[in-house]
Amino acid sequence: MAAIAGRATTRTELVVDRIACDGFGMCAELLPELIELDDWGYPIVAAGGVPDDLLDHARRAVKVCPVLALRLAHVPAGPPPERGVAGWHGNGPPAVRR
Ligand code: SF4
Repeated sequence: MAAIAGRATTRTELVVDRIACDGFGMCAELLPELIELDDWGYPIVAAGGVPDDLLDHARRAVKVCPVLALRLAHVPAGPPPERGVAGWHGNGPPAVRR
């Protein structure tokens, strides 16, 4: 993604609401390139964002989640804030407001 003058560069991330997720695992079946399941069936999302060529698959995975626990978010490009540092939100990267 190219930066536009005056705008921060963003990337698209899959974010799981771990409270809402019931661990059905449908997202991992649709998007095994980016989502694997832990021993209890809960999703582990690969770091680094969603590549452009997998965006349609990611959108499909979001749509099939039966409890709306999966979403796509635009986050600032670059490494995520580390635990304990301002901007760290624990479960996933903060969404960029537009
Ligand atoms: S489809 Fe939704 S409920 Fe099922 S594992 Fe994925 S995020 Fe969780």
